[in-house]
Amino acid sequence: AHVSTAEFVKSSTCSEECPADGLPEFALVGRSNVGKSSLLNSIVHRKRLALTSKKPGKTQCINHFRINDSWHLVDLPGYGYASAPKELRINWDGFTKEYFLKRKTLVSIFLLIDASIPPKKIDLEYAGWLGQNQIPMTLLFTKCDKRKKKKNGGKRPEENVEDFLNLIQESFREAPPWIMTSSVTNLGRDEILLHIAQLRNY
Ligand code: GDP
Repeated sequence: AHVSTAEFVKSSTCSEECPADGLPEFALVGRSNVGKSSLLNSIVHRKRLALTSKKPGKTQCINHFRINDSWHLVDLPGYGYASAPKELRINWDGFTKEYFLKRKTLVSIFLLIDASIPPKKIDLEYAGWLGQNQIPMTLLFTKCDKRKKKKNGGKRPEENVEDFLNLIQESFREAPPWIMTSSVTNLGRDEILLHIAQLRNY
């Protein structure tokens, strides 16, 4: 499994505006600064494919990329910007959730979780919401190359992953699939592509 072509298709603000070609899609979402743009670029082997700027306001779109002319990788706005006005934060929530609930071609959401820090409430809530709504989700743990640091709670990425999985357990009937990743070492990249290939063949 590898990426030979990756093209930006379009930016949309709701599920109705999204491409109508029926290709299966996989959407990346996570807290701002979780490492989403880095992972997106690591997956497609390109620098700066993610056209979204990190400034709040420019990230408010559902961005479709067509991969190998056969599926879509979708970049969604990050959540949890401390600096964004409250109305904006709520609005992001509204339209990404509308997209999750209505988009028929969405095969799985990839929820990115920073494995270099202990589980955060906002991420646990997000995962819990997806679980309660039975929206298919794969957890991608990011920054797994980072060594443990006292200021980050003093745990290794593996321990943070285990804690996170334990804390979301009750929101899921079946434990969601999860993959440990790093955009620095490209850990997990092949596994993600293989996972996508498997999900597409169901
Ligand atoms: P985004 O806001 O979710 O798109 O996050 P970015 O991709 O811009 O990354 C946020 C910060 O985390 C940047 O300083 C990156 O260099 C760093 N970062 C992202 N991925 C990794 C990773 O896999 N390992 C390490 N050590 N740092 C990372």
